[in-house]
Amino acid sequence: MRSRQARSGPTGLRERPKPDKVALAVKEMHFLPRETIEARFNLRGDEGMVIEAAGTISRGMTGMGFIYANKECISLGIGCLVADFQRTGETPYGLLDRFKRHPSVAPLIEGSEVKEYAAHLIPEGGFKAIPQLYGEGWVVVGDAAQLNNAIHREGSNLAMTSGRIAAEAIFQVKSRKDPMTAENLSLYKKMLDESFVTKDLKKYKDMPALMHTQSQNFFLTYPELVSKAMQNFLRVDGTPKVEKEKTTFKSFIKARSWSGLFGDAFRLARAWR
Ligand SMILES: Cc1cc2nc3c(=O)[nH]c(=O)nc-3n(C[C@H](O)[C@H](O)[C@H](O)COP(=O)(O)OP(=O)(O)OC[C@H]3O[C@@H](n4cnc5c(N)ncnc54)[C@H](O)[C@@H]3O)c2cc1C
Repeated sequence: MRSRQARSGPTGLRERPKPDKVALAVKEMHFLPRETIEARFNLRGDEGMVIEAAGTISRGMTGMGFIYANKECISLGIGCLVADFQRTGETPYGLLDRFKRHPSVAPLIEGSEVKEYAAHLIPEGGFKAIPQLYGEGWVVVGDAAQLNNAIHREGSNLAMTSGRIAAEAIFQVKSRKDPMTAENLSLYKKMLDESFVTKDLKKYKDMPALMHTQSQNFFLTYPELVSKAMQNFLRVDGTPKVEKEKTTFKSFIKARSWSGLFGDAFRLARAWR
């Protein structure tokens, strides 16, 4: 049995998040006139836009950058696994600064005023990190229950749905005038397991570990290779196409070898299924 001392927070309902199961995201809110936002993002009326940036921007760490065009401001941020920050010595503000200075990003926020800055932990452990969800008189929902789908970048909807299901389960127990025992509140977990929340997290149960252990390949090596391959494919420079294809093919083999490429494809397919 886990001791109460190993758990954190005032309630002790969950363990202290492990560095490889939680990401640290930092975000800035850049305010601009609405007309400028519409012009820069090609928006009209109530439209907004989401841009996700994955690849060399996270310097081989498991993570992504994001830009949200809102009504009056642009939210811009980046998040990576805490374990990767520990491993690399990179800083969240250093990453964010580089992201903002990227030639594709800088013009989008030029002349803006930063009025808000936020840092937040995001649970990334997925299905295998879900803690005990109910007990004597309590249930846990949302981020506190690690209900976050990092692959699809979903957290808000899982928090709302788990909250609704918890309320429905409690309502059922109360309607029967039963006590709020762990046994009766296990109904919450049963109902959650039947919902998309647990089903989606279960589908990707092996992805968080794969992304973490292979972060160098998936977030640095492959993005660089694909980027170079696309440049090679699209550039008109008089090189015969057969030679171009050979160059691209060789670059993949040189970087990862045959067994590495097949191994990565196999591991990805198996974790994704
Ligand atoms: C940068 C960033 C980008 C994101 N992007 C997306 C996205 O695009 N799509 C998506 O679906 N999800 C996204 N998420 C995830 C989403 O925000 C969360 O999954 C969601 O907010 C979780 O809701 P929650 O109610 O469980 O927790 P929270 O929203 O964290 O709410 C918990 C509340 O409890 C309060 N609290 C904490 N401790 C105490 C205490 N002791 N006493 C009283 N109050 C307390 C906190 O202040 C907070 O207000 C993003 C998260 C971050 C950080």
